[in-house]
Amino acid sequence: MANLKSTLLCRCPKCHEASVFEDPNPYHLTKLSKMVKRCPKCDFDLENETGFHFLSMYMSYIISVAFSFIFIIPASFILGLDWIPRIILINTILLVILWPLIFRWARMASLWAATSFKME
Ligand SMILES: [Zn+2]
Repeated sequence: MANLKSTLLCRCPKCHEASVFEDPNPYHLTKLSKMVKRCPKCDFDLENETGFHFLSMYMSYIISVAFSFIFIIPASFILGLDWIPRIILINTILLVILWPLIFRWARMASLWAATSFKME
């Protein structure tokens, strides 16, 4: 549970306190991808491994597809099948709005996967 919370809040996977990104606000797009090399609280090594960005790309895809299923299926049951084109349009708009968050959550999921073996 602590790992999920620290992933959603973009905190260090070890101490769950310090932010992993230089700017905690994901909507400051010029600093969206800037990550710290070491955790300022616990000095945990947050250096990206080879293939980190490739893994992040897949994580971003998985998060986007999961979000779309969670949004589209209940919305089409509630509003009816005639609404599906509009629901897909709304889903697309939501994905564009949430893109910086999804980008960072994908990086956090990749970071957690890449560093979980270091914490043992
Ligand atoms: Zn830390």
